[in-house]
This record gives sequence, C-alpha cells and structure tokens, in this order.
Amino acid sequence: MGKPHVLAIPYPAQGHVIPFMELMQCLANQGFRITFVNTDFNHKRVINALSEEDNVGDMIRLVSIPDGLDPSEDRNELGILSEAIFRVMPEKLQELIEKTNAADDMAITCIIADASMGWAVEVARKMGIKRAVFCPASAAVYATCFSVQKLIDDGIINNNGTPIKNQMIQLSPTMPPMNTSQFGWACIGDLTTQKQIFDLTVKCNEFITFADWIVSSSSYELESAAFTLFPNILPIGPLLASNRLGKQSGYFWPEDKTCLSWLDEQPPRSVIYVAFGSFTVFDRTQFQELALGLELTKRPFLWVVRPDITVELGDSYPEGFDDRVSIRGRMVGWAPQQKVLSHPSVACFLSHCGWNSTMEGVGNGVPFLCWPYFADQFLNQSYICDVWNVGLGLDKDKRGIITRSEINNKVEQLLDDKTFKARALHLKEKVVNNVREGGRSHKNFSNFIEWMK
Ligand code: UDP
Repeated sequence: MGKPHVLAIPYPAQGHVIPFMELMQCLANQGFRITFVNTDFNHKRVINALSEEDNVGDMIRLVSIPDGLDPSEDRNELGILSEAIFRVMPEKLQELIEKTNAADDMAITCIIADASMGWAVEVARKMGIKRAVFCPASAAVYATCFSVQKLIDDGIINNNGTPIKNQMIQLSPTMPPMNTSQFGWACIGDLTTQKQIFDLTVKCNEFITFADWIVSSSSYELESAAFTLFPNILPIGPLLASNRLGKQSGYFWPEDKTCLSWLDEQPPRSVIYVAFGSFTVFDRTQFQELALGLELTKRPFLWVVRPDITVELGDSYPEGFDDRVSIRGRMVGWAPQQKVLSHPSVACFLSHCGWNSTMEGVGNGVPFLCWPYFADQFLNQSYICDVWNVGLGLDKDKRGIITRSEINNKVEQLLDDKTFKARALHLKEKVVNNVREGGRSHKNFSNFIEWMK
C-alpha cells in the first residue's frame, strides 16, 4: 500500500489558503502525501511569493485548476467569484483527480474540502473517496451557517439571508448573544453579493452533510457553546506554525523579514502591531487618520500596508509622516505575522479580527484593538471583547471615521490596564494546552489522522 494521499481544496482567499497549508504541513509531518489545489490565479501568487528557502517541502505538491473567471476579473468580488467557482470547479476537480489517480501509486485516498467549497465533498462522494470538511473560521460562524433554516423558520432572516430586524439573538440558550447584523453573509457587500454568498452557504450546507468528518481550526475552550450545539464539528486548533516549530506558508505576497530585526531593537512589550489581513481597504481619509493616530500614540509601531490597501493611487500618507515617525514607526508590505505576534517586543495587536489573525493573537497572548472590516470579523470582535475579554473595540465618529484621538485613547486604555494582558496570557495557556499531548484538540486531531490512514 502506498502512503495515504490527501487532496486539499481551500476557498481561494488568503485567510483560507494559510490555515489549509498549516493543516497540510501537520499531515505531511505525519507521513501523508498531499496534493494542494489552488485556483490558477492564486497558485501563481503563492509560487511568486515563495522564496527559495521557503519551499513547502517534498510531501506537498502544489497544483491548480481554473476558478471560472477571466484573468483580469476582480477576485475580491466574492459573490461573482463564488458563483464562477461553483459553475466551473467541480468538473475541473474531478478531471484532476482522475488524472492523478491514473499515475501509479498516486491515488487520492481522502479529500479535505473547505466548508465554503462544500461541492468538493459531493465530487468525492460521487468518486467513492473518503471526505472531510475543514472549517477555517470560528465555530460560531459555522453554527450560524448550519442554522440558516432555523433562522428562516423563526422569522429572524428572510430567504435571501437579510435580517428581518436588527436584534440580539442566541442560537441556543448557552451561545453568546449575537446581533443579527453580524451574520457573516450580511456583512459582505451589496444585496446581490449577500444573496450570492447566502445561496452558496445554503448549498454547501447540503453537501457538508455527506462529509465523514468536520474539523475546525478553533478550540473547545474558546467556543464551548458552539461545539456543544454542533457536536459533529470537532475542534483541532488553533493550528499555528509555532505549535509544530515551523513557519507559516502559503502567502500571496512576499514577506518582509526585515521587520523582525527591527522588532529585536525595540523595548519589550512596546510595539503596536497593526495589520488588517488580506482584504481590507481604506479610503484616503481613514488611512490618513490611522497614520496620524499611530503617530499620536508616540509609541513604536509596525504597520502592514499591503500594496493594495488604499483605493487611491499614489502616496496616501499624510504629508511629512514618514520623516516624523521614522525613528519609531515601520511600514511593511506583508509581515511574517505569526513570528511578529510571538515577538517579545509586541504589546498589542490592532487588527481587523479575521479568524486567523484572532487565533494568532490569542495563541500568543497578545491583547487586541478591534477594527473589523467585513464578513465574520464583527462576530470575532464580540468574542474578543465581550466573551474572552482580551481586547477593546474602536468606535466610529458621526462621519463613520475612526479618528486619531479614538485610536490614541484606546491604545492608552488597553495598555494602561494590565488585566487585558493578564487575561490574554491566561487564554493563551488554555488554548495552547489544547493542542499539546493530552489536550482535546490534540486528541481529535489524532483520531482524525487515524481515520484518514
Ligand atoms: N498575514 C501575514 N502577514 C501580514 C498580514 C496577514 O502573514 O502582513 C496572515 C495572517 O497571519 C493570517 C492571514 O494572513 O494568517 C490573514 O487571515 P485572516 O483570517 O486574519 O484575515 P483575512 O485575510 O481572511 O481577512
């Protein structure tokens, strides 16, 4: 018998490819052979961003199939992208599997599909291949997705996913209350996009019922009520590169490692790390206000300014900003985020609260300043601030702007109150113990591996 051979298919977004790559690195370490399927578009980005010393190892084969869009179309239009995926990718995936299986000793023995790519479970079922689903967002998000029919029946949303009214609800008596405006699909764009994403969610739900396993990148300690409500979702996280003493991989942009030596020069627990993941964009006013807010704190900061973070072309920094902050501020295009967050110089994380960033901050005991942008990030903020109590939210003014003084005030408030850091360290201890020998996530993961073998 050959080695078990897993085919992994993440949703084509950075916040899905990175945790999938992490899961596959863990499986490769266990002797699995991996075929990692990106879309052609993202495959090129991953390959271009890999430096020579950063290859993904011999056990992981990177391959790609088309996503159904023209090369020039905008992949940040998630509704259009999701529709195209659904139309084109199932057939392309099947062809890829047939071709792979035709080679000696290469047959795919298990497919791990992203929950947002539930159709791949159906492809696996039709082809008689074992199948599992990996959920790279919070369990609360999937609990909400798996509850859509109940939410419709209870008159909380309509058939398009639109909340009937703005209200606080609980998915179960023990689940933390959530605002109906926090449903992921309702925070993703205009009504057309919302409907496209909502329809995809409903379809994926059906396919996911054919999965043999559903595993989650979260941990029981973080979301016990969601795991109790849906006991078929098994936590195996948080999956962080540091837990296997490795590097994060699967970046779409080349990382700027120089910020690590810059961090070495800063005093312990002094630096504000500022990063908004892969999607967030700012208009010029908000971008400048953020820059001025960081300047106002008079503290060292490391700020990830992705090349596409502002919609305006050209230099968006306030006049003279670079010179004024040059001694204590550092801007980079893309940071090795997990390494940054584990650095002793980092004091807090000004974050958009993407689930991966949330897990990475929590896994390193770093308190948060929350600035959610879209989708599940509002819900993640409420876990950070209201459930775990390890961060503070930033409030918008009447114009809808987060002002420089709001940024400065919240930084002061967070760092002056030492209980935030203490709780963050306590939470870290709990979740990291989970993935160690004897921990619940560790046990689930071992059982999952045994099943796949
Ligand atoms: N990330 C990174 N360097 C950066 C910014 C982000 O490595 O400069 C990584 C981060 O560690 C996380 C992922 O990109 O793993 C972003 O995922 P998340 O779910 O936080 O946000 P999304 O990009 O999906 O909005």
